[in-house]
Amino acid sequence: MITEFTKTVSGSGVKLTPQRMAILDCLNGNESHPSAEEIFRHVSQTYPMMSFATVYNTLSMLRDKGLVLELTIDPARKRYDPNVKLHHHVICLGCGKIADVHAEYELDVPADIAEAFVMSGNHVEFYGTCRACGNAAQLKGE
Ligand SMILES: [Zn+2]
Ligand SMILES: [Zn+2]
Repeated sequence: MITEFTKTVSGSGVKLTPQRMAILDCLNGNESHPSAEEIFRHVSQTYPMMSFATVYNTLSMLRDKGLVLELTIDPARKRYDPNVKLHHHVICLGCGKIADVHAEYELDVPADIAEAFVMSGNHVEFYGTCRACGNAAQLKGE
């Protein structure tokens, strides 16, 4: 499927093979912040011969070109985000769900930091318990 996302990717000089297209389709507009394993499970339904290495290498290549974000907020596994515009994330410590936190502003950089570092961006991580996990804990009487 040709989407804005595939156009952006091919515009950055990435050759679009059918396997890569399947990975891009899975990522396009995907707000669930899937792991490489989840993407692999999804695309192998269409491409049973695709190896996990292909998925992983494609994600690394897209990350290196700045076309996807690689999130390390989940301690269990890296997660991928096709939305590379400035936004922040919240993770549920119960189920690992990651949601976007949209914020138009950038944090103010303190003067001593601005002096010691050349800034390239910022990203805020929020932690908490999602409603579903909170309700489950209540039912168990925790
Ligand atoms: Zn949860
Ligand atoms: Zn996100």
